Amino acid sequence: MRITAITATPIAFADPPLLNFAGLHQPYALRTIVEVETDEGIPGFGEVAGGEQMQKAFRLAIPDLIGMDAFNRQAIRQLIIGGEGSDDTHQIMPGVADQRRRELVYSGIEVALLDIAGQALGLPVHALLGGKARDTVDFSAYLFYKHEGGGGSDDDIRDDIYGPALDPDGIVRQARALIDEYGFRSVKLKGGAFPPEQEMDTMRALHGAFGDGVPLRIDPNGAWTVETSVKVGVELDGILEYLEDPAPGMDSMSAVRGDLITRGVMTPLATNMIVTRFERIAEAYEKDACQIILSDHHIWGGLQATHELGRLCEAFSFGLSMHSNSHLGISLMAMVHVAAATPALTYACDTHYPWQRAEDEIIQGGRIAFEDGAVRAPDAPGLGIEIDRDNLARLHERCRACGIAERDDAAYMRNRVDPTFSPDPARW
Ligand SMILES: [Mg+2]
Repeated sequence: MRITAITATPIAFADPPLLNFAGLHQPYALRTIVEVETDEGIPGFGEVAGGEQMQKAFRLAIPDLIGMDAFNRQAIRQLIIGGEGSDDTHQIMPGVADQRRRELVYSGIEVALLDIAGQALGLPVHALLGGKARDTVDFSAYLFYKHEGGGGSDDDIRDDIYGPALDPDGIVRQARALIDEYGFRSVKLKGGAFPPEQEMDTMRALHGAFGDGVPLRIDPNGAWTVETSVKVGVELDGILEYLEDPAPGMDSMSAVRGDLITRGVMTPLATNMIVTRFERIAEAYEKDACQIILSDHHIWGGLQATHELGRLCEAFSFGLSMHSNSHLGISLMAMVHVAAATPALTYACDTHYPWQRAEDEIIQGGRIAFEDGAVRAPDAPGLGIEIDRDNLARLHERCRACGIAERDDAAYMRNRVDPTFSPDPARW
């Protein structure tokens, strides 16, 4: 089966003003929807990060992939990313030096190719990855400090379903709403938005509201110093399932771990910042800089690579969880397939999915259903979804109209909340 065309369609969907270390979510989130067409008439879909730089990367990559064997993902991967230690001459996309962007491009195409292979063979993607280790995939309630508003702009302003949440009571309210609606059984707070004392109060309020039966995590994206990270780890000892990226960089994380152990605190450190590539795992292991790795098939180079990461985590006794960015249903289904097929993935995965609205979903049948905080891995061929092309066209048009070229949370934060804002690592 040969690839006859690849389309990378930029889209935008409404996103509420969620706070994080880097600033404030803009009124629209950007994504790229990848469609691969084949000479047997089977199309496949993938979804990755958006923005003009991603568009440029796809434009560079696509021409050389036309005519290639849709089942030979390895050849396509090597063409896009190159072998280990290769130089630019072995890769297409010579203008894209950033390996992360290459991995993103490959991931979008790889998911589409697995979708195609699954449809051709009559098998779900999780079967192509080795088979299901579980039937359902757990997700956590992903809480954010949040300003008023539901996202969108001009004649496309959205209702503010969950309301503002700028203090512990607001976050507890948000958690209850998400748990009531989706049935989540664990909770993650995006921190790094307010001074750590305030965020610790929020974690204590969540623990008070939900008790020991609901595991809690906090992720300030490296906004704290080593000293502050240790203080938080000590004060929240016993109520955190894991502490995610408290301090920036491998050595800081290693220092936090060492200090916490000295104080008898065994709360594991998780990361989607210091280990985002296979090449970083050895150093993290040697320095004991993290004990849990957050996978993300978009960043790690696809579903097969994420599955391989699971094996590596088992071998080195790392825990495995999953990171997310603002995304729609294609990404969610890809996450579900790989999580279902990866035995090492024992923590509830992150997802931003509840923050996106039904009218922005681009798969037929609307939003993917959650039950008890989990999504069932579909047994239909491929990803198990069909695309709503009218909605895809509408979100593409909105991308052109919304005027956002690249995600810039810091600029939006300066514009809307604090003109002096700067996203400095270890600021507290
Ligand atoms: Mg994180």
